[in-house]
Amino acid sequence: MRLFEAIIDANHRAVAGDATAGLHPDEFADALPVIALTCIDPRLNAFFPNALALPEDQFIWLRNAGNIITEPLSSTMRSLALACAVKGGQEIAIIGHTDCQVARTPMALLLDKFSALGIERNRLPDNLAEFFGTFSSERQNVIKACDFARHSPLIGPKIPVHGLMIDIATGKLDWVVNGYETLLTQVPPTQPKMDFAAIGALGSFKDFDMGEMKFPELKIGAVALPGKPLALEPVPVAKPPAPPVIKSPLPPLRPAKVPLPPPLRPRGFQ
Ligand SMILES: [Zn+2]
Repeated sequence: MRLFEAIIDANHRAVAGDATAGLHPDEFADALPVIALTCIDPRLNAFFPNALALPEDQFIWLRNAGNIITEPLSSTMRSLALACAVKGGQEIAIIGHTDCQVARTPMALLLDKFSALGIERNRLPDNLAEFFGTFSSERQNVIKACDFARHSPLIGPKIPVHGLMIDIATGKLDWVVNGYETLLTQVPPTQPKMDFAAIGALGSFKDFDMGEMKFPELKIGAVALPGKPLALEPVPVAKPPAPPVIKSPLPPLRPAKVPLPPPLRPRGFQ
């Protein structure tokens, strides 16, 4: 079982009430640390990295409003790329959540909220939907972000890019995009050289096929302002020390299983 398959399995067992659900990180050392992109919603604070059953030092957490990737060379993609190249991230997970207010705030309401902050319409970009990155479906937004990341020239062909949804009420994780499968099926053997100048001029990923996804202009999303990225810098990650070698007939000690603590299970369980 690969890392995120084990994570989903442990998560589902924990949500179902299995107090022993968890992971042994040492069994997945080659797949750690994990890089996660989530929304800024404070309700998520209690879920990560608990819901993934990962230790904090193996969890690189990036956040922006709506867990949106707007283009393959965006500020968020820059941070994802450096999380891989500088911090050694082995797998990427873009994790949307249910009841995302970024997807549920009508544009008229957003304008009212900006106005209340003293920001009138004429100070905002002309195309608000394009600027803020618009989505009406949390799942489709995750699929779109995975496509951008999977095909970004900044992410190498060895890094799985997963898409997940987390239930904001229960912490239950579900697959949206299985990055192990897209790693095998969607990456061409030789990646074409990207035309960075053309991408910059267009302001979008010209080769990206939007398919049947619909992004009505009456909803909002968000992207980092130029020069003011919303995404947090990756948290420094250190590899755990190797387990001690014990010269005895007893089996060597192994790091403890990482359980899935609250809110997935009551406090006090080990
Ligand atoms: Zn959200």
